[in-house]
Amino acid sequence: MKVIFHPRYMDHRHPGTHPERPERLEAILVKLDSLSLVKNLIFPEEIEENVSNLVHTEGYLRALSTMTSDYLDGGDTFVSSETYEIAKMAVSGAILSVDEAMAKNKNVALLRPPGHHAGADYGGGFCYLNNIAIGARYADLDRVAIVDIDSHHGNGTSDIFYSDPGVLYISTHHHGIYPGTGVSVAVGENSGEGYNVNVPFSTGAGDSSMKLALEDIIDPILRQFSPQLILVSLGTDGHYADVMTGLSLSSQCYIDTGEKLASLADELCGGRISYMLEGGYHIPSLAEIIAGMVSDEPMNLEFTKNIDKNKKGEESVLDTTNALHRYWDL
Ligand SMILES: [Zn+2]
Repeated sequence: MKVIFHPRYMDHRHPGTHPERPERLEAILVKLDSLSLVKNLIFPEEIEENVSNLVHTEGYLRALSTMTSDYLDGGDTFVSSETYEIAKMAVSGAILSVDEAMAKNKNVALLRPPGHHAGADYGGGFCYLNNIAIGARYADLDRVAIVDIDSHHGNGTSDIFYSDPGVLYISTHHHGIYPGTGVSVAVGENSGEGYNVNVPFSTGAGDSSMKLALEDIIDPILRQFSPQLILVSLGTDGHYADVMTGLSLSSQCYIDTGEKLASLADELCGGRISYMLEGGYHIPSLAEIIAGMVSDEPMNLEFTKNIDKNKKGEESVLDTTNALHRYWDL
């Protein structure tokens, strides 16, 4: 699998100690290098055309481009004079990721800053421009599926496509944490009703719960939606070693989930799939998950505890089924 990266992604820094830091990507590159996988790296060109306005308002883009030292939210999302340029380079990476996926080249895009908390006219939660949403609009297809397995609800992506039946948004996340959205009954509105799917897991949900969500919700809805392209918001902050959220997924579960979505893409849309990095703050597990996804060989994993063997998230999956069964055969 190809890996999209650009050195500019390392230049984005928040002041002080911040979990969303360049060391995340550095560790992934070191891990890929140790497995002789850096040969898979490809680099985006900076896109001249303003593709960000496929999603974001002119007013928001203007504000972001002129900020020099400010915060978009309570102190979590810093904007320096460089932020806008680096965020645009992440968007360029998302565009390359979509181009590669359309050419049937599965790929992982190691984007920084991440994007799924950014809406049309707002940023926050370490996000400025919504990379995956811009990629979905840029693809210009009738049916794009975004599967968001970051442990936070992608409120920005959800808002952007909430009334759009052409972009199916499915999110699994830890219920009750930032940004506080993503309940199972939020199913979309107007012609987009039924095309917004939330699986808000309770604390502790892990491998067996994710497997259940894949089998009972994600697989059947993707089959019925019949996407022409699948984009994955890949966040690993639901890992048991990641203290940012309270889910208990293992590295193997993330790799298996990635493979399951890839095999669905093979079946449903000629293998057109890409994975775009969102969160993931426990650096060693993040690095081994990405390496495990990129590698063709099974690799030795360090973080393999299967903590949730008994479907702690079963009730959440049932709630989602109840909310969505009038739109999909579940
Ligand atoms: Zn997250």
